[in-house]
Amino acid sequence: MAVRINCSIQNTLTLFNPPLFSLRYRASPLKLKPQFRFGQNFSREVLFCTCATTDITPSNAEPFVITTPLYYVNAPPHMGSAYTTIAADAIARFQRLLGKKVIFITGTDEHGEKIATAALAQGSTPPDHCNLISQSYKTLWKDLDISYDKFIRTTDSKHETIVKEFYSRVLASGDIYRADYDGLYCVNCEEYKDQKELLDNNCCPVHLKPCVSRNEDNYFFALSKYQKALEETLNKNPNFVQPSFRLNEVHLIYEIWISNELQMVQSWIKSGLRDFSISRASVDWGIPVPDDKSQTIYVWFDALLGYISALSDDQEQPDLLKTVSSGWPASLHLIGKDILRFHAVYWPAMLMSAGLTLPKMVFGHGFLTKYLCP
Ligand SMILES: [Zn+2]
Repeated sequence: MAVRINCSIQNTLTLFNPPLFSLRYRASPLKLKPQFRFGQNFSREVLFCTCATTDITPSNAEPFVITTPLYYVNAPPHMGSAYTTIAADAIARFQRLLGKKVIFITGTDEHGEKIATAALAQGSTPPDHCNLISQSYKTLWKDLDISYDKFIRTTDSKHETIVKEFYSRVLASGDIYRADYDGLYCVNCEEYKDQKELLDNNCCPVHLKPCVSRNEDNYFFALSKYQKALEETLNKNPNFVQPSFRLNEVHLIYEIWISNELQMVQSWIKSGLRDFSISRASVDWGIPVPDDKSQTIYVWFDALLGYISALSDDQEQPDLLKTVSSGWPASLHLIGKDILRFHAVYWPAMLMSAGLTLPKMVFGHGFLTKYLCP
């Protein structure tokens, strides 16, 4: 059966990367052979796949689980979110053509101070604001014919249940402790910053806005405990972070943090990787920390779990281990390179602590730039 590979994807790739990139699949009755061509001569050819599409995947075979980031709803979707999602859609469709069972996960990340601030600026409430923006993502994915299977919102009740259960497992592993933290905070990054990484006037290098001084009593995750295990993971599985040159960036993160550790004497730095705060006392718009309603769970410690909670069956009572058995681990997290630290460092350590399997691959793509998309 001849199957036309979604032409809108091709057109969109054309739109995104006109002079540099052409993508063509040579159809074969036996196997698909992708061909990537880089050069100046770009041709708009219609793509066809003539491979057989009979289901060759045994019913008990592992599904191919692909995820986009859960997009932050502080603002409506933009070209960057469409870029990642279209790429994920192309991969999902390709895997389906190979006869695999695919679970394509996307969704929206809806908690945190930045969301509450964005809602206030619009004269709205956080729930109304999240409903509006989340729906705008769904509308765009419909317009772009994105073939996702699961759309998770971090305000879904099943997600909250899974996050709390996960938090309790990490707590039971002895990896959560309470400590004071005094530091500079970028509200837009939703992250404490080291003075060294800031520009003049304590400006965040990403947002070019001044960080604010904060003193909070927070819960911390003992990331430092997983330094060796993470290094071993990267050494044993060089495909874990792709493209391979990004691996150096992850190693660099380790090295920077290690050197910081040597220079900074702070009680919350144990060794190597720096423990990170996983709760906020000053943010109401979030999932409450189990057994401490005065704090909410840090937005990243909440959002990353969406990759698992998305697999939960809506008709059943949410349960972490049962959900994990429905498709976890992810075959591929497709992300922008700016959130590599969270996916290639924080997330695997969190999973190790909870006794869960790591994703098979994290792919950090580059940004759309003016050069590629004038
Ligand atoms: Zn920032």
